[in-house]
Amino acid sequence: MRVYADNNATTMVAPEVVEEMAPYFTEHYGNPSSMHSFGAAAEDKLGESREKVAALLGAVASEVIFTSCGSESDNAALRGTLESYPEKRHIVTTRVEHPAVLNFCKRMEDSGYQVTYLPVDPSGQIDLQELEDSITDDTAIVSIMYANNETGVVFPVSRIAEIVKSQGAVFHCDAVQAAGKLPLDVRDIPFDLVTISGHKIHAPKGVAALYVRRGTKFRPFIIGGHQESGRRGGTENVPGIIGLGKACVLAEERAEEERTRLMRLRDKLQKALLAKAPDARVNGEGSPRLPNTLNISFRYVEGEAILLMMNSVGIAASSGSACTSGSLEPSHVLRAMGIPFTYAQGSVRFSLSRYNSEEEVNYIIGQLPPIIRRLREISPFGREAEHARA
Ligand code: PLP
Repeated sequence: MRVYADNNATTMVAPEVVEEMAPYFTEHYGNPSSMHSFGAAAEDKLGESREKVAALLGAVASEVIFTSCGSESDNAALRGTLESYPEKRHIVTTRVEHPAVLNFCKRMEDSGYQVTYLPVDPSGQIDLQELEDSITDDTAIVSIMYANNETGVVFPVSRIAEIVKSQGAVFHCDAVQAAGKLPLDVRDIPFDLVTISGHKIHAPKGVAALYVRRGTKFRPFIIGGHQESGRRGGTENVPGIIGLGKACVLAEERAEEERTRLMRLRDKLQKALLAKAPDARVNGEGSPRLPNTLNISFRYVEGEAILLMMNSVGIAASSGSACTSGSLEPSHVLRAMGIPFTYAQGSVRFSLSRYNSEEEVNYIIGQLPPIIRRLREISPFGREAEHARA
């Protein structure tokens, strides 16, 4: 059996999405900026897709800019705002953001900006009073994610947005992991800028969107032609955008039902692993979490070793995030939460999608506990702990 449980890294492209995209590679391949009928076919469908993406966000089409990836949208939101308020030299973010935000902020520090990286508590939450206190007249932008890609911990973005707006700063929310999984409506929450990414919601890689609320000051990050109403240069990835539009429609249609189903499967997995593997803990427990995500640590074993052994029985999961795997340092997210090193090292992230079945979850439940036992047998600390328990 092969089980793909790494959907926070990327998702399978939905067959309906592939079908919708196909004619725009070989039939309607015109440049949407061209005057002829080939261009018009692409442009019409581009407009339709913009409506679909806007609908998922409760936005209007003119507030949606298409980009090449979530990282570009994050960079564009930050850079576009900083350039719009050149007199303001302060950014507020958290210690647990995706590198697309964190590393951008670090780069801005090199250019003389001041950045506040808000800490999180052991359940992964920021202190809202600390957020409010951190915003000053010099703060151009506050960039805080909706849901964490590694732990699934969900921030109270509605409260956060209200606080940021009451303090007069621009609010950008990286909603890459939340889109399609949690309610996300710009009519209910005063976001100024929102990032979403196609490949996390069963659209292809290489396409994403940035929501920019009407009236928000924004300067383009990619400077080029008049595409995207002059807000993002570069010929649009037409098939990708069409795929994103279709993926948004599917996400919206199935959101409620999938949320309930995934949470039940995730909870089943969590309960069984905690029961069958002693010395395990769930990272982010105590916080609201994405319905599809389980980040679990097994004390005294290496996350990488667990992944390799799971891979050998056909299970694909992740340690921390895809972006930090390959390094033996525990993830910056788990470190920020103060997870003890002996646990953080042995962390595994399972992230499910609409294509995962109960049978697959049962397979993980059957395979993983013996793997943990075997790894503890060969770890000196693990052996001691097992013997102490015996
Ligand atoms: N933000 C978050 C929270 C993510 O999880 C990711 C991808 O893992 C990104 C941003 C970057 O998105 P992309 O891979 O489309 O650049």
